[in-house]
Amino acid sequence: MISIELENPRREIEQAIEQNDLAQLLRVSGLLHGHFCPGSAMGVKAATRAVRELRTQSTGMEEVVAIVETNSCFSDGVQIVTGCSFGNNALIYRDFGKMVLTLARRSGEAVRVTQRPDGLSMEQREPEAMKLFQKVVKERKGTPEDSEKLRGLWTKASFKMLDVPDEEIFSITHLKIKVPAYARIFASVKCSVCGENIMEPRARIQENKPVCLSCAGDQYYQLAGDGMSLVGR
Ligand SMILES: [Zn+2]
Ligand SMILES: [Zn+2]
Repeated sequence: MISIELENPRREIEQAIEQNDLAQLLRVSGLLHGHFCPGSAMGVKAATRAVRELRTQSTGMEEVVAIVETNSCFSDGVQIVTGCSFGNNALIYRDFGKMVLTLARRSGEAVRVTQRPDGLSMEQREPEAMKLFQKVVKERKGTPEDSEKLRGLWTKASFKMLDVPDEEIFSITHLKIKVPAYARIFASVKCSVCGENIMEPRARIQENKPVCLSCAGDQYYQLAGDGMSLVGR
């Protein structure tokens, strides 16, 4: 089991990246992701390659940022390996629906890892698992035994995925990008209706008093399974 050091909580992950120990990194990704699947394995693989290419490390202080273009399983593999997460503001999400990672230093020096369109499909790689996936996940018609079986097949397929040469599944390019500014720290104000604190730029003013978006009945952005959308009203 992973041991967490107070001085550098990511030490074991950094060592695994240095040793290119993809299996260990995939195991650790399970802590966040809850299961093993080819998507998270692809995320682990893409991120490990990007971190090694860029020769960088992250303390979660935005010295490195990861830009992902999907909110699928792939992105959890990316978060664990790069240390760039939703909560530390070093993960940037662009809702393009592409399994793509761009890892960048503050200087703009970046590596972009995209999926090769001519690579083998999951149906070709894992026909048995994909058939079961169709039934259990897409159609939601599987029995508990089917789900259990899929879990096993998926775990095996995920670790197998790690042995496929990067060049067979990814295109890797070095480029220079414009990195978004550091996250700003905003003051909090209290909503005059529900009494909860809100970061100032999200507050609306009604009858000269600050109100949260929810109490104001205003539209807001929501990131859900289908991606980012404007909801409310
Ligand atoms: Zn998954
Ligand atoms: Zn409110």
